[in-house]
Amino acid sequence: MGVEPDSPARYTLKAGENRLPLNDYLGRTLRLEWSGAIACTHCGRATRKSFGQGHCYPCFKRLAQCDSCIMKPELCHFFEGTCREPEWGERFCFQPHVVYLSNASGLKVGITRNTQMPTRWLDQGAIQALPILEVDSRQQSGFVEVLFKNEVSDRTNWRAMLKGQVEELDLAAERDRLLERLSAGLGDLRERFGADAIRPLDGSPRRFDYPVLEYPTKVTSHNLDKNPRVEGTLMGIKGQYLIFDTGVINLRKYTGYEMSLAA
Ligand SMILES: [Zn+2]
Repeated sequence: MGVEPDSPARYTLKAGENRLPLNDYLGRTLRLEWSGAIACTHCGRATRKSFGQGHCYPCFKRLAQCDSCIMKPELCHFFEGTCREPEWGERFCFQPHVVYLSNASGLKVGITRNTQMPTRWLDQGAIQALPILEVDSRQQSGFVEVLFKNEVSDRTNWRAMLKGQVEELDLAAERDRLLERLSAGLGDLRERFGADAIRPLDGSPRRFDYPVLEYPTKVTSHNLDKNPRVEGTLMGIKGQYLIFDTGVINLRKYTGYEMSLAA
């Protein structure tokens, strides 16, 4: 599922060569069916199970992008000499990363490559986001995030996000408060990586809204592995989720699953 920032966010579903404009299906009955096949998103091989969101097991064990340091960049393997694909690392991890605050279910800190904004925030279902610091590498962004995690969550409560009961925050004020509070720790990191390694960003918060007719009061999930057919009226799309009147489904979780869609 792809998403473009618009008001509301515009979602498309890739189906072969085509891109279905999902927003057009709001309020309509949809049937989503998994054929039982899963193709690795990296090598295309058929796999019985999906590992690391859409990979076959060999790719999952071999690719740098499936290694544990992607989730915990402060444990970057490149500097240990154990990066699975040093060339991939040089291309993706050694480029500017941004530390941001976002609000999908309350205040959260996160990191992303510059090029992944604003997709990253739309994927979370964030209603607000504000980049606050820029650093030179993924590892550095990991160290900064670890520091922020003492004060702010790095998780989204997806049920709260899907219920849509999220209060707006003053992200600029939160930024100022946190930078002040964490100034000693940031100073230590600048001493380690260089005075201009961690650069404050002076942007204004971005806002996002989503195509949702009605939020669920109770969130139940569809599970394609247990029941390959999902049917219902499409009530909304937010983050990675399709919201049906019969339950929600996280499409990211089923990356690589061969699905058909019927209206
Ligand atoms: Zn593969």
